Amino acid sequence: MAIITNEEINEIRNKANIVDIVGSYIPLTQRGRNYLCVCPFHDDHSPSMSVSDEKQIYKCFSCGNTGNVFTFVQNYEDVGFIDAVAIVAEKCGIDIDKNKLNSNKKTINKEEFEIMNLTEKFYQNNLKTEFGTTAMDYLNQRGISEATIKEFGIGLSLDNNDSLYNLLLKKKYSANKMLEVGLISQTEGRNYDMFSRRITFPLWDKDGNIVGFSARIYRNEKNTSKYVNSRETKLFKKGETLYNYHHAREFVKTEKSVIVVEGFMDAIRLSIEGVKNVVALQGTALTKEQINLLKKLHVKVILCLDNDTAGETATLSNGEQLLKEGLEVYVIRLSGEKDPDEYILANGIEAFKNNLNNPMVFFDFKINYLKKNKDLSKTNDLALYVNQVLEEVANSNDNILIELTLKKLSTDYDLSIDVLKEKLKDFKKVVIKEVKTVDRIVKRKKDAYLLSADKILYFMLNGGEYIDEYRKKLGFFDDALHREIANEIIYYYQNNNNINPADFITYVSDKETIKNEVMEIVSNGMDDDVSIEIMDGYINRVDKIMVKNEIQKLKIELKNETDANKKIKILDRITELKKVD
Ligand SMILES: [Zn+2]
Repeated sequence: MAIITNEEINEIRNKANIVDIVGSYIPLTQRGRNYLCVCPFHDDHSPSMSVSDEKQIYKCFSCGNTGNVFTFVQNYEDVGFIDAVAIVAEKCGIDIDKNKLNSNKKTINKEEFEIMNLTEKFYQNNLKTEFGTTAMDYLNQRGISEATIKEFGIGLSLDNNDSLYNLLLKKKYSANKMLEVGLISQTEGRNYDMFSRRITFPLWDKDGNIVGFSARIYRNEKNTSKYVNSRETKLFKKGETLYNYHHAREFVKTEKSVIVVEGFMDAIRLSIEGVKNVVALQGTALTKEQINLLKKLHVKVILCLDNDTAGETATLSNGEQLLKEGLEVYVIRLSGEKDPDEYILANGIEAFKNNLNNPMVFFDFKINYLKKNKDLSKTNDLALYVNQVLEEVANSNDNILIELTLKKLSTDYDLSIDVLKEKLKDFKKVVIKEVKTVDRIVKRKKDAYLLSADKILYFMLNGGEYIDEYRKKLGFFDDALHREIANEIIYYYQNNNNINPADFITYVSDKETIKNEVMEIVSNGMDDDVSIEIMDGYINRVDKIMVKNEIQKLKIELKNETDANKKIKILDRITELKKVD
């Protein structure tokens, strides 16, 4: 099968201007020869990212994220390299062969995903058979149409507990494989379908691959749990997925927000009603991985969890975590029904949209939450409440929010604003002490040799004349890493007949050992002037240091050498080297 070649990839990169592509995601302002923007890869409040039109490279001075146009899209969209190439091509109006792109993609877990797809089809088909009538009635009753069934891959596991097992066996899949992906279970040497007698809902990973199923009863059945979920497998890691994430992604962009609900039925219900920027936790507490998925959407988060104590407590803790990660957080608390699904069924989508259009900022939610279980007409409770609010306010850098909150406290509870301000100062002191230092990149201290060697490699990336200069005047490096990169550069140039930093980054992107070093070299050199004279300066420095090191080494050898003849030879070599120096 044809694949997309490196030449074609470089051609796309050369046609795409990194300034336009980055600018299509984040506003840029020109500063001198570069463009500046707020870095999307860390919690950035002042523009820390620099984009070079000349070098077609970007870098963040704060978090260190760097690379070319493909790296940027990969990081921003959280996609693989080939997908990033496709996105860049599309943004530039370049037509590329989709089949070629697909054959470039590395397919891990190919067989596993095939089984899952086959299973989904089997379940879906069951719904259409005579065994599916009751289940279809149930779904229709719940307002789930044919279109929704198709969109969400809803299906039915049959009443006997080995029909899937037998089907997969016929398709030549081993019982071990089925066990591995969690579709069957084994008892006393017999294999049983994991799901039976239930309506099935596929669960996807962030890219839309089916990784598991959730299945619920649909008839009046006692003595069995309402839901059965896939167990954790190599495909399905519950804490690492958000239900509907791959569907929601494109809608999140236009809505500029993502709604987070608890159950997948809530997400399906909202989708049915046209609110498609929604993901479900499949639980109450957000995990670190789920927070990362939300961060990658680059939009505000609206928490709309269940209308119970657990949902309220989870709103508080999830909201705090999201805030800590620099996300903008809003809250919707529905009243009456237990979750968004039932709320919409009872009150209609317009009632929900009223809430959606006026979400609470998380701060207001928290201030309200603090009133819980307190009787504010009692002095003790009121004092505790005011102190807790001030503690909250002390964490904020938003002067308007601080001012408004103090005023509100002052009027609502008849307190002197000066006293409140005094008290706030005390809390601020504590906060400042606790402020965590931003995780800036800890740079390895480089000595003069390494710094100059980096520069030489950077020059070599700027054209054949610099590569020739290296080969003529230096030819090697003392350390293996720089030697290896130099060889890669020479190899690349010989094969492509031209070279530039941005293309070379693509070339090393799958060479784990040298990738990071090359990224660092390129990002450090981004604004350097490039000329043979400047390069010669670095070559001289590296040469001198290497000679000095060699002499040092020989002197140690000399000390340890007992053979007189060999001693003379070493001495000769030292004298010779000193002449060069
Ligand atoms: Zn950054």
